[in-house]
Amino acid sequence: GIGSADIDGKIMHCNQAFADMLGYTKEEVCQLTIWDITPKKWHDMNKRIINKQVFTRDYSEVYEKEYIKRNGSIVPISARSWVIKDKDGNPAGSWAIIRDITEQKKLDQMKSQFINIAAHELRTPVGVLKAHIDLLKIKSERGYWYLPEEVHEKIRVISRNSDRLTLLINNLLDYSRLDAGTVKPKWELASFDAAVAQIFHEVLPLAQKHGHKLELNTPQKLPLIYMDKAMVRAIFNNLLSNAIKYTPEGGKIYVTLTEEEDNICTEVKDTGIGIAEEDLDKIFEPFHLTDISKNALNKSAIERTGLGLAIVNEYVKLHGGTIWAESRIGEGSTFHVVFPKNKDEINMKIKS
Ligand code: ADP
Repeated sequence: GIGSADIDGKIMHCNQAFADMLGYTKEEVCQLTIWDITPKKWHDMNKRIINKQVFTRDYSEVYEKEYIKRNGSIVPISARSWVIKDKDGNPAGSWAIIRDITEQKKLDQMKSQFINIAAHELRTPVGVLKAHIDLLKIKSERGYWYLPEEVHEKIRVISRNSDRLTLLINNLLDYSRLDAGTVKPKWELASFDAAVAQIFHEVLPLAQKHGHKLELNTPQKLPLIYMDKAMVRAIFNNLLSNAIKYTPEGGKIYVTLTEEEDNICTEVKDTGIGIAEEDLDKIFEPFHLTDISKNALNKSAIERTGLGLAIVNEYVKLHGGTIWAESRIGEGSTFHVVFPKNKDEINMKIKS
């Protein structure tokens, strides 16, 4: 469907496909606002996308939300919006292309059920293998056996790969639990900057090992907010690890935290290999890897599961926040994460 709305969200025009998606006639749709057809839990996110993306840089990334149909049922959709400007060049509204993603959501659900079952089944045998291999590795390192160096080397390779397999299985389980909606944040009033600073200092040695310069900027003192500390730490751990991984040796990585009205706005910016325009939305989907074959990275040092950002995306959603990336191939990437400060707002979203 295609539709347009004025600056207050009043729907101006729509095509037949858009009206059909909602079960109204075109004339009826034009009596409504986008807020009438959008469940309350999406209003803040939707306003943020319009103000921070559409009215600021003329278009949005693809985002997902829901509509309320005429009969009251809910339809999941994905949309991308562009600005409409008046003759002086000021934003006067927006227009969007909207896709009904009901079928896609059903398939996603089947896929995550499958992932969950597979990961559960793999966890025990891989855990047993890892325990035995770790023991062999300790004995090999401590010189228990006089074995040819080749055997010690093979033990190291098996051990490294059992670690990778364990990481993959844990990521799969984390992701499928999040996707199934069974994860509940442990809310506490805590210092956002302290949580980010802790991760910043934890990843510093790894960044330095790769010759990167890492900088944390917090221009003003940030208020305490309700958050799940472990999730906030995991979000920044992932974003910073990616920035380190996807930046050739000797790069720069900046983290900036600012307060803006009702939100804490964060940026993780790198001078790395960048992400192609067509990949920018897809990287938040599970298992989406971009093509890194034609750049200056040391590929053998990179471990990729394609699950980090999918997990980050779910953690951000649980905080009622939004995440998007801006990037140019060869010039670097910036990941923006916006967290609402108000716990009531978060709670309302999660309850509804
Ligand atoms: P992983 O890094 O384990 O593959 P992620 O879900 O964290 O998985 O990231 C998905 C993909 O997005 C990565 O494989 C990479 O292609 C791309 N990507 C993520 N962060 C960056 C970055 N800072 N710079 C360039 N590419 C990135």
